[in-house]
Order: sequence, then structure tokens, then C-alpha cells
Amino acid sequence: MKPFDVIGFDADDTLWHSEDSFHHGEQRFVELVSPFVAEGVDVKAALTAVERKNLHTFGYGVKAFGLSAVEAAVSISDGRVPTAVIGQLVEMVRAQLTEPVRLLAHVPEVLAAVGRHYRLVLITKGDLIHQTFKVETSGLEHHFEHVEILLEKHPEAYQRVLQRVGVAPERFCMVGNSVRSDVLPVMALGGTAVHVPYPLLWELEHVDHDEHFAELASLADLPAWLAAG
Ligand SMILES: [Mg+2]
Repeated sequence: MKPFDVIGFDADDTLWHSEDSFHHGEQRFVELVSPFVAEGVDVKAALTAVERKNLHTFGYGVKAFGLSAVEAAVSISDGRVPTAVIGQLVEMVRAQLTEPVRLLAHVPEVLAAVGRHYRLVLITKGDLIHQTFKVETSGLEHHFEHVEILLEKHPEAYQRVLQRVGVAPERFCMVGNSVRSDVLPVMALGGTAVHVPYPLLWELEHVDHDEHFAELASLADLPAWLAAG
């Protein structure tokens, strides 16, 4: 018998690139803002600190990042940052929000292969407008019987999704790049999770843990892993 009925997929950095754009945005922020900041200030660390402070209020995603970037630019420059730089930060956000989806390697084939044997659901988190845009323009939506865009990926949120989809945690397997968001909360419910790391991980997704779970080097390894289970 198959070990699972439903396979859940994370989206950002699991099906398509995301963190590399944020990484680029952080570097651009440092370039743009550093000339107006006193020497010795760690500009990148200051941005991350503002993002951490705002996470609960602003949520995840590009617009939250942009607002935190504006706040950090004003505060670490003691108000000296020119309005032209603020305008460039906003343009950076707009460019990131409208950039076409860039799929990771093998994604359509893997979804087609896994979808022949399992029900698939997409479970992502973040900004509703941006996530919806990415799902709808990805060319992948038809693989999923259900798409869920969450504010936060904690066990209670996953539990509600599993109830909606009609699957017990023991029959559910989640696949994603974030141990904090895709692996640990699903294991806490008694489900299974597979970690497929992306080369970059946002600092606020880092987590210390001593759990054991499957880790695959590439999504392309998922069909064989499921078949072996
Ligand atoms: Mg992700």
C-alpha cells in the first residue's frame, strides 16, 4: 500500500526561485543606503533586525521587505537618506513583484510523475497578491487539487489545511525547502516531511533542531524516494 494519500508542496524555493531575488534586494539596499550611514554600522544586519521586528505586523513577502527597507534606510541614516533612494527602494519592490516566475529544474516533470499516484496540494505562505500571481502564472496550477496561501506555517495552520483537504496527518507528506516552515510543523502533527534545501535560506527561516527527516538533494529525487517508501 502507498504510504501517503496526499503530497503537499511548498512553492517559494521549492518549485520556483525566490530567495535569490531577496538576496539581490538586500545587496542593492546595502549599495544604495551605505553612503548615508555612519561608518561601522552593519547595514545588512540593521535591515534584518528591522525585518525581524516587523514580521508579526507586516507578515512575509516582498511588500513587507520593502516597507522594512524604507524604515531601516531612514532610521540608520538618521533621516539623511535622500527621497531618490527611497524611490529606488520602492522600484526594487515593484520589479521583484512583477518579475516572471522562474521554475526550478525538473519541477513540471516531477509534479506530473508524483501526481499520477497521489493527490497534490500547494501550501505556500506570504503576500496574497504576489503568491496568487506566481501560482496563476507558473503553469503549474493544474497539477494541484487545492492551493492554500497561509499567513504563517505553524502546526495549527497545517491542521486546518489537512482537514479541508480530508487527509489524516499520517497519510500526508510535505515537501519543502524550509525546515522551520515545511518540515517541523508537519512532523509535530504526526505527518511526514521531506527537506529539499535551496542554496540560499533567509536568516529569519533559520532554526535549531535535532529532528531526523529525509533530505533530498533535488526535487528530481522525489518520485524514486516515494516509490521506495
Ligand atoms: Mg519555501
